[in-house]
Amino acid sequence: MLLISCPNCGPRDETEFHYGGQAHIAYPENPNDLTDREWAEYLFYRENTKGTFAERWVHSTGCRQWFNMLRDTVSYDIHSIYAMGQPRPDITGTSTTGTGAGVAGGPGLAPGAATTGSATTGAAAPTSSEGV
Ligand SMILES: [Zn+2]
Repeated sequence: MLLISCPNCGPRDETEFHYGGQAHIAYPENPNDLTDREWAEYLFYRENTKGTFAERWVHSTGCRQWFNMLRDTVSYDIHSIYAMGQPRPDITGTSTTGTGAGVAGGPGLAPGAATTGSATTGAAAPTSSEGV
């Protein structure tokens, strides 16, 4: 069970919230100009991050306000909670600034975890992964 600190109400039980999917997905400027594939990617294609992930939550039984959360998808640790519209905070340990699209692994891994790669279970982290 997660204890989520709503920016308006304070710490509340996870059952008061609803998950809203990946954060920082911008609505296309000109949706009519998109191909069917680009539109489908906007609607349905989301990262499946193992590690720190930016996601949206709504305090549905409280203030009903949306906010963003940086959460580790492995340990469930909540790193940061911030308002909608704010950029993703740079948490400690994320020194890589590359624009890698593949975010598998994420910055939450231990420093030595990315060096091996052959024996991992399909989650070999790219050397520079950020996940904006
Ligand atoms: Zn609230």
